[in-house]
Amino acid sequence: MLGYKRNGPRTKHLITITNNSILSLFFYSSPIINKFSDTHLKACNVIQTTALRIALGVPIWTPNVILLKLAGQEILSGKIKRLAMQFFIKQIATQPFSAIFHTPGRIYSQLVEKDAESLRITFRNLSCIPDHIISLPIFPHSNPNICEIFLKDFYFQNKELPSSLISSDFIECIQRFFTNHFIIATDGSKSHCHTSIAGFSCLQQFCYRIHPLNSVFTAEVLAICQALDELVIPETDILILSDSFSALSSLKNLSFHSPKVIQRLAAKIRIRKNLHQKIALLWVPGHSGVSWNEKADFIAKRVSDFSPYIDWIASEDILSHLKKQSLQITEENYHKSKYKLLIGNIPDILTLSKWTGNRVQDRLIARIISKTITTPGLLSRFNLHPDPLCRVCNEINDISHILLRCQKYASVRVILWRKLNIVSANITYDVLLSHVLVNKNHLLIFVQTLKYFDIV
Ligand SMILES: [Zn+2]
Repeated sequence: MLGYKRNGPRTKHLITITNNSILSLFFYSSPIINKFSDTHLKACNVIQTTALRIALGVPIWTPNVILLKLAGQEILSGKIKRLAMQFFIKQIATQPFSAIFHTPGRIYSQLVEKDAESLRITFRNLSCIPDHIISLPIFPHSNPNICEIFLKDFYFQNKELPSSLISSDFIECIQRFFTNHFIIATDGSKSHCHTSIAGFSCLQQFCYRIHPLNSVFTAEVLAICQALDELVIPETDILILSDSFSALSSLKNLSFHSPKVIQRLAAKIRIRKNLHQKIALLWVPGHSGVSWNEKADFIAKRVSDFSPYIDWIASEDILSHLKKQSLQITEENYHKSKYKLLIGNIPDILTLSKWTGNRVQDRLIARIISKTITTPGLLSRFNLHPDPLCRVCNEINDISHILLRCQKYASVRVILWRKLNIVSANITYDVLLSHVLVNKNHLLIFVQTLKYFDIV
């Protein structure tokens, strides 16, 4: 089924099948397979690239660099190593309930040396240590009704409204419903140089730098956690303001699978609850002229290299960073390779399959991009065709010649070039591709014209 040429499943689905059926065997046992020798890991890569070649419908000699770039995949051996590290980091984050790490602080000695060393390197590259990972509280909470959370209970909680209306209705709401509450505003902020958290009450304020890998979501939640630690006064009902709808709704939908930082926040709220202190959370639309929110935002953005630093880092953010970094390797390998010069900057097949209509087009465009269209010039390289030369032009009859130079197709080319907005008569293969891959319309015009070049 995988090899169907004409109809049948789309390339993007075949890549999913490759990942979910064949390769998932490796993924799920990654902490064990990670200990394979390099030879074994290379064998894994062969299984992956063979499956991807069939999925894309390109020949077996298509270079891996192009194959992985086109399929938008990371090399399997790298992925196995990454998933193994992610497994250990997840275990650190689920302490004290981890199956393998019972004693925090003795993490490395609980692993075999090879894993311990990889984990050490991973943490060194992240510039943090296992102790800084936000882990589960000792009493994880799964009751969603932990405290009052107001997300869309009031008129002003609507981003569509004009700022003036939001800020005036907010003041009215506070005066009517929260007069006896001690108000704290919080905010998390992320710029290219700093990730920071801030909070303030009428009595005091704080602003901290946090690890730059933390997401805005994590920062927003950490800001509320820190406010509970630093700004809360005893024996008073507390109202905490946040402009993070996602953070507050995540807390509202608390479960055992919630991010660890949400679990931590829930545990902090529970401690207050046990002391008979009521905590309420109120969502405030950001950048809407609500002075409490504006001031928290201002304090968070005033962060500098000299602001105090809090070590906490979310395992979920580390995991998404590691994945992004790993896919970046595929990109870099392609950009360093000679193929970058030959075929230019190409999108992956997932992007392209939004433009193509069926398996035939998927396969055709994969072959055009990888320059693996069957031509006499190509066949003769494998001794499958007696004559590599074009009879009309006496040049090597490969796909570049056919599309860019062959006299036989001069008139077809003029029409195609006009439709693709190509002005220069003398262009290279990568320039042609850059015009073809500019949008859906260009791609379809190109694919439909290919039949006049006698290559479909
Ligand atoms: Zn020719």
